[in-house]
Amino acid sequence: MAAAGLISLPPAWTRKIDIAHSASRIKIMAIHFQSQEFITWVFKRLRPRFGEKPQRKDRDLTAILIRTVLSQNTNDRNRDRAYLNLKRKFPRWEHLLAARQSEIERAIRVGGLSRQKAKRIKDILAGIKKDKGKFDLSFLCRSQVDDARKYLLGFKGIGEKTAAVVLLFGCGMPLFPVDTHILRVTKRLGVLPPKTTAEKAHQLLAPLVPGELCYELHLNLIQEGRKICHARKPECPACPLNTRCLYYRKVWKINERAA
Ligand code: SF4
Repeated sequence: MAAAGLISLPPAWTRKIDIAHSASRIKIMAIHFQSQEFITWVFKRLRPRFGEKPQRKDRDLTAILIRTVLSQNTNDRNRDRAYLNLKRKFPRWEHLLAARQSEIERAIRVGGLSRQKAKRIKDILAGIKKDKGKFDLSFLCRSQVDDARKYLLGFKGIGEKTAAVVLLFGCGMPLFPVDTHILRVTKRLGVLPPKTTAEKAHQLLAPLVPGELCYELHLNLIQEGRKICHARKPECPACPLNTRCLYYRKVWKINERAA
């Protein structure tokens, strides 16, 4: 029975109010998570755990580009093995461009998708040579960020992530590459909507990540994804981000209560 003076609502209404209330709470929380303030907080929380990463620039942009193509759908170890095999067999870019596709495929087989990657590498080298008469991409570092990005995106098979990796690591440009670990962690935190694609994630995160944080945040979020926020069974209680993580609030705590 309802307490004196209180109107008791039908149970279905109470549920509706609860759902509406929690939906608007999640909306408010999402706005809060999708802010530079929140990203800066993440950056600060990750540094003591994974260390400061002073920005380094590797000026061989063509090498970064080829290594990034080789990294697709494989791990760092096999990417590095494929790249070493490639450089051992074809020490100069001219040699690589002149090689038969089947020879390149054999050299990079350890990294997987060798037919597709061999063709892509040859096409990219041919395109750079045709445009610039040489294989040097250092002109990109003297370009406007958006022009440099668009130049790389003009090659078939180069997407936002590869372009951002080349320009961040090669020139120190303020771009934020989103790999599979960063995509997963930022979705769980509540920064990105759950169904965001990797390409869309670049657009959504670009205005949120301050330029000076891109390098270290990129590296430390990858470590967070590899070491703590695993695809299966994230280690939320040990995570430095758990006090403000949407996934932790919604899933882990609910599971804890149910246990
Ligand atoms: S609290 Fe859990 S889900 Fe959230 S970022 Fe950390 S490990 Fe990932």
